[in-house]
Amino acid sequence: MPIAGAVDPVPVPRTLAPRPDGLKDLVGLPRAAIADLLAEAGLADAKQAKMRSRQIWSWIYNRGVTDFAGMSDLSKPLREALADHFVVGRPEVVEAHVSIDGTRKWLLRSGGEEYEMVFIPDADRGTLCVSSQVGCTLNCRFCLTGTMKLVRNLTASEIVGQVMLARDSLGEWPSQPEGRLLTNIVMMGMGEPLYNFENVRDALKIVMDGDGLALSKRRITLSTSGVVPMMERAGAEIGVNLAVSLHAVTKEIRDEIVPLNKKYGIDELLKACADYPGANNARRITFEYVMLKDKNDSDEDAHELVRLLKRYDLPAKVNLIPFNPWPGALYETSTPERVQRFSDIVFRGGISAPVRRPRGRDIMAACGQLKSSSEKMSRAELDRRAAEKEASW
Ligand code: SAH
Ligand code: SF4
Repeated sequence: MPIAGAVDPVPVPRTLAPRPDGLKDLVGLPRAAIADLLAEAGLADAKQAKMRSRQIWSWIYNRGVTDFAGMSDLSKPLREALADHFVVGRPEVVEAHVSIDGTRKWLLRSGGEEYEMVFIPDADRGTLCVSSQVGCTLNCRFCLTGTMKLVRNLTASEIVGQVMLARDSLGEWPSQPEGRLLTNIVMMGMGEPLYNFENVRDALKIVMDGDGLALSKRRITLSTSGVVPMMERAGAEIGVNLAVSLHAVTKEIRDEIVPLNKKYGIDELLKACADYPGANNARRITFEYVMLKDKNDSDEDAHELVRLLKRYDLPAKVNLIPFNPWPGALYETSTPERVQRFSDIVFRGGISAPVRRPRGRDIMAACGQLKSSSEKMSRAELDRRAAEKEASW
């Protein structure tokens, strides 16, 4: 059994610098915290503060208002006083790109650091891929984010801020239940969400709040590379869909490509999946499998994948992701024929295994291509960075 609350001592050396203007950002705070701040600032007594916090919340999350002056059901003096103490912030957009397939990528900045967010439009849905950290403390060898040195946890405000900014860009205010472009969220941007558990949890609670952005937990997926001790809490305290980056079926290969496997092995991981609260046949766990040429893509691997998922009786589906290349990467993408054959074997084993169509490759927006600055690294430098990270956890 995973020990509830046990968190690995992963170093997150940089914390967010306070805003130079000394104002506090209300985005990402629960209603009760907003009420407390209003009372602390002497802007309302306790009872009023509760009511005012509800009004402010509605302006922020239903109307997308960022200027207190526009909160017309509050008195003018209160609006002015609010602006003296608080802001309704957004990350700064440093760059925005649009792919030939309609995928959009934004390079964002807050607190001096940069991170990326991606929007993937489809006929029946629009998925926002949200970052949880600047960089990643882990070092999956096929992932460009894993080569980044700089790591900081994003705050709940910065995580919710990505959703707010996407809504701004898509012109989706005021909030309405029908006809939205942004319908789904995946925590699959930069970073390992379960190494920033509290902030990710608090942010997703706000995103799911029925009086605001109101995205259903069924439309949100959290992807983890396998931080076993945090999986049970993720299910109990967030309750969104789970995706697990499995990527290999033997210790030898998973140790190489997802080095966290040396700490939490495949069996331990699959056991934690079997215990994941809320997983059932209607809400299956997604197993992500990046297809790397001659590394993890053989017929035997496909058969072993079926065997493993069945052994743990997991309500599972497999997502096959053709490897998205980046400058200096050590791997190649499996051929389309190999990917298809792998998919067929898993299907025949009774498990759905669609191939994910790469999106936004031309703007480096596809899975594993996110990094706030591009630099081509030598093999030696890649190895050195990977070793440095592993030594720290
Ligand atoms: N850190 C989390 C979520 C972010 S990555 C995790 O690892 O699960 C989202 C998915 O993209 C993961 O399954 C990740 O392994 C995969 N991925 C990373 N680099 C990739 C690449 N270059 N090509 C294809 N998929 C990649
Ligand atoms: Fe981090 Fe996920 Fe990339 Fe691994 S795949 S390095 S956990 S972002």
